[in-house]
Amino acid sequence: MRSLLVCSLLFTLATLAGSQDTKPLPTADARYKADILLVVAHPDDEGAATAYLARALDEGKHVAVVFGTRGSSGGNEVGSEQASALGAIREIEARRALGTLGITNVWFLGGKDTASQDVLQSLANWEHGAALEQLVRLVRLTRPEVVLTFLPGTFIGEDHGDHQASGVLATEAFDLAGDPTVFPSQVAAPLRRLEPYLEGLQPWQAKKIYYFPDADREDIFKGKGPEYSVKEISKSSKKAYWRASLDSFRLHETQAKSFVDQLNKMDDAAIEKMMAADGWTDVQRFVLGKSQVGGSVTGPVFENITADAIPFRRDAFSAQAAGTELSVELAGPWNFYAEFRRAHGLENLPHPEPPEVALQAGSSLVIPLWVRNPTGASREVTLSADVPAGWTVANGAGKLVVASKQTVPARIEINLPGLADPKKTKEDAREVTVRAESKGASVGVVKLRVELRKRSLPE
Ligand SMILES: [Zn+2]
Repeated sequence: MRSLLVCSLLFTLATLAGSQDTKPLPTADARYKADILLVVAHPDDEGAATAYLARALDEGKHVAVVFGTRGSSGGNEVGSEQASALGAIREIEARRALGTLGITNVWFLGGKDTASQDVLQSLANWEHGAALEQLVRLVRLTRPEVVLTFLPGTFIGEDHGDHQASGVLATEAFDLAGDPTVFPSQVAAPLRRLEPYLEGLQPWQAKKIYYFPDADREDIFKGKGPEYSVKEISKSSKKAYWRASLDSFRLHETQAKSFVDQLNKMDDAAIEKMMAADGWTDVQRFVLGKSQVGGSVTGPVFENITADAIPFRRDAFSAQAAGTELSVELAGPWNFYAEFRRAHGLENLPHPEPPEVALQAGSSLVIPLWVRNPTGASREVTLSADVPAGWTVANGAGKLVVASKQTVPARIEINLPGLADPKKTKEDAREVTVRAESKGASVGVVKLRVELRKRSLPE
């Protein structure tokens, strides 16, 4: 009965509205317009940027946040809930954590939390196309001036594949959301009243994209973007920005209950001392990915940004020219990122050379390779690997034959020893060299720096 009444009321209102021909046409919902859209992977990842976001909010900026997953593969320090049940809890924790800063426009793409360092596995497990469609929709809905996200790349560090995937998707959405031919049903106007399929959004070109890295070493990121002190006192909360970030992070109890319990027993001075030792009070550093409005690399995030929308722009790029000789190169995420940087105009993004990875001691390292034979004849290739003492090549070395005009995947598998000193948490990185030869001549050398750790996500 109640729903019948509501329906008839709506019908009456709609009829009245239809009878007034001076009614302005609806425009985009201003409540969802953001200055900054933060795109991260898991509930609690936002902590990488909340000290800066607290500052931006003080400056009157509006912030929206997108999480790729609900973090269902995390631990649980509070209760017995795991997997999807844990994800349901972590979604609430994320909303409450961001709520401490006043951020309420928060969405989840529904990707699956993928315990791996391989961005390609995360993208596959997130259903890349569906996740991208949803993120493009949210860019068009929130119309951000600036997108902030994880730096897409492989590094020695935690280097979570999901973190990288959020950076890949955010970059793709940055480049696509302004193009009206991308997901066109999102930008088509409904034809009929209550049209349930066409979305009535507008294309949107964000102005800048900035990254923050999930790497241990910071040196290659210095000078690549702006830096912000997190020790200044917030006008609104009257506490230092790092402290606003920490007090927001405390809401992630499933991830940090023992840490929060410890904080609850400490006074402010002791908390600051401990957090300073842990790097929480260090300067917040971003890497400029690209700007569509100019400005300097290390200038403020909002330098050159005005209220006006800017037209969609796609920079032309050309794929790397195909070679004419037999070649062997690193495949997997490393190869993907080289192509990705070229395709998205991000050749300026810092990346380690030689490429690097951190792996758990006692596990195995798989080096994925492309063997390309563009020549007119079938060719034999011999693969070998130079490895540090105590490391053993388990698979993949030896001869293989590649047919004419074919590119085939190959892999070298290396068994890694335990840590020489079991009391340490990691060892200095070592170099592995894969050599490919044919008819006695080199056709490729692939190097990889590998750090052994007590614990690490799988490759
Ligand atoms: Zn994370």
